[in-house]
Amino acid sequence: MTRRTNRARAYAPDPEAPGRCCDIPGCLNEGEYRAPKSREALREYFWFCLDHVRAYNAAWDFYKGMSPGQIEAHMRNDTGWQRPTWPLGRLGGGGHEEDFLHDPLDILGAANLGHARPAAAQRAPADLRQPLDALGLRWPVSFDEVRARYKELAKRHHPDANGGDRASEERLKTINLAYAAVRSHFVAEPNMAAG
Ligand SMILES: [Zn+2]
Repeated sequence: MTRRTNRARAYAPDPEAPGRCCDIPGCLNEGEYRAPKSREALREYFWFCLDHVRAYNAAWDFYKGMSPGQIEAHMRNDTGWQRPTWPLGRLGGGGHEEDFLHDPLDILGAANLGHARPAAAQRAPADLRQPLDALGLRWPVSFDEVRARYKELAKRHHPDANGGDRASEERLKTINLAYAAVRSHFVAEPNMAAG
């Protein structure tokens, strides 16, 4: 169903793509398209799959005035990014977006966001890629960082905190499974990310 010949020139895969997954948490497509991290950081790039670079471009105005870290935090916390379409209906709704930018536990710092690393060094062990994506974390990461992230997500998505919301329940299940997978990895290889 892919109509490659109809692709606009602007959407040709970037030859300088670093050969890693799309930067949207949970997306396992290759990140072949670059997009500036913000208006203030036009030379720092996210790498997205085609669907997500389109969605990101469509949301460009929405990100106006946000720092690269804030944009990244928003993407990480917005489950709409799990699907390859930007939830346009919510843009401009205003109000609750600030919630996404709260980072009381310094999750962004703990996850080393914004530190560009060579493609090879970013490759997580195969069994961890999906769980880390589900937790919105990037390799390399320490178990302490994983645990802090897990606690924060578990609290945020707990059904009690969301009026018994069904989607929160599902999300919490995913988070629990992902955490269990990462934990068993670290228990099996405790020195993996020690240095
Ligand atoms: Zn993607």
